[in-house]
Amino acid sequence: MELTQNKTSASFIALLARYNEFLKQYIYPLELKAVYGSFKASLPELRALREIAKKEGLFAPHLSKEEGGLGLSLQEFGRISEILGKSPIGHYVFNCQAPDIGNMELMHQFASKELKEKYLKPLQKGEIRSCFAMTEPENAGSNPVHLSTTAVKVGDEYIINGHKWFTSSADGAAFTIVMAITDPENSNPYQRASMILVPLDNPGFKLVRNIPIMGDIGEDYMSHGEVKFINCRVPASNLIGQEGQGFALAQERLGPGRIHHCMRWIGICERAIELMCRRALTRMLDPGKPLASQQTIQNWIAESVASVKASRLMVLATAQKIDEEGAKAAKEDISTIKFFVSDVLMNTLDRAIQVHGGLGITDDTLLSFWYRHERGARIYDGPDEVHKSVLAKRILKQFAGS
Ligand SMILES: Cc1cc2nc3c(=O)[nH]c(=O)nc-3n(C[C@H](O)[C@H](O)[C@H](O)COP(=O)(O)OP(=O)(O)OC[C@H]3O[C@@H](n4cnc5c(N)ncnc54)[C@H](O)[C@@H]3O)c2cc1C
Repeated sequence: MELTQNKTSASFIALLARYNEFLKQYIYPLELKAVYGSFKASLPELRALREIAKKEGLFAPHLSKEEGGLGLSLQEFGRISEILGKSPIGHYVFNCQAPDIGNMELMHQFASKELKEKYLKPLQKGEIRSCFAMTEPENAGSNPVHLSTTAVKVGDEYIINGHKWFTSSADGAAFTIVMAITDPENSNPYQRASMILVPLDNPGFKLVRNIPIMGDIGEDYMSHGEVKFINCRVPASNLIGQEGQGFALAQERLGPGRIHHCMRWIGICERAIELMCRRALTRMLDPGKPLASQQTIQNWIAESVASVKASRLMVLATAQKIDEEGAKAAKEDISTIKFFVSDVLMNTLDRAIQVHGGLGITDDTLLSFWYRHERGARIYDGPDEVHKSVLAKRILKQFAGS
């Protein structure tokens, strides 16, 4: 397969430059305050930036042109996602942040006309936020067929009961898409669950708490909710796709989602390398002898840059394969980038922190925010060990019996 990203048009390069410039001009000055201060208190400023992004024609780049976006391929959006990843609020400002982007893609493909009108359109415009409730504290999320949440159809309603956690960004969201068992007796465990849209002003929905992440409880978009559905009644027409299609839809949602995350992680690495280099050049061990003069530091910089380059090529090649052949054909590639790039991210952040010394673990730079909140990268969207197993099994198959 020939990687087409090398043939990027001049107009697309100019578009990337505009995103880079936007980050420098508007986003970098606000980011520390938004992530270490009160996110809620920063919302008016964040909304103002969204308006500027809209005026400049840069808002919601992942959407089709008809939906108000830029009509990009997955590979092209990946390049933008890399730039936005350089700031923890980059994706948010352009309304292409997880979990909303995954829900937008899912609803675009599978939601009814009515659900699109009522929920998808305001979500695409950034007027409301959403979340995705699948993982349960009582069951191993690594094996998604083990769910206890049920949705029982009574008349023209579903009655949902269950306990979920890591429902990211539930605080302040307008709706969630919940994964619930609708057909517990189905002989195929992958056809037992369905996805159902639940508005969060429903009296049967309860946000139990925002879960503290390594000491940071978070709020609003920057939070992870523990939630309960207690006799939560929603119209049967809130079903997304068909009954029993939950796992199939989750796979659809996660394929492009892993490209988005990986490119965002690459953006984080680039920013971390930038911070690492600036610090290495200005921190003096002796007059005229910067940290950058030490070979160990040089090794860390070189190793980080090389692994980021390798990651970018791998992820863009996978995005291209999804664009050309669909997510199913790229299953092992998607697994490969997921565990490879999360490891690059952890190593790069760790090196950048080490170069900063004590400063690296303070909240005076973005590094501690990422170290705390991106540790989850090895866990969410399937723990790395599961993805390694997918890849290894495929490889072993080639040698079995030979
Ligand atoms: C930051 C963050 C955001 C999240 N956002 C959401 C969200 O918005 N919505 C949502 O529904 N969920 C979300 N999750 C939950 C996430 O999907 C689960 O944490 C993940 O699926 C793992 O499930 P678990 O935590 O139950 O771990 P477990 O299933 O208990 O696994 C624990 C560990 O066991 C090991 N392991 C598991 N299976 C295997 C295997 N087959 N082989 C070898 N080792 C294995 C892995 O090391 C794994 O980390 C989020 C998680 C995090 C950390």
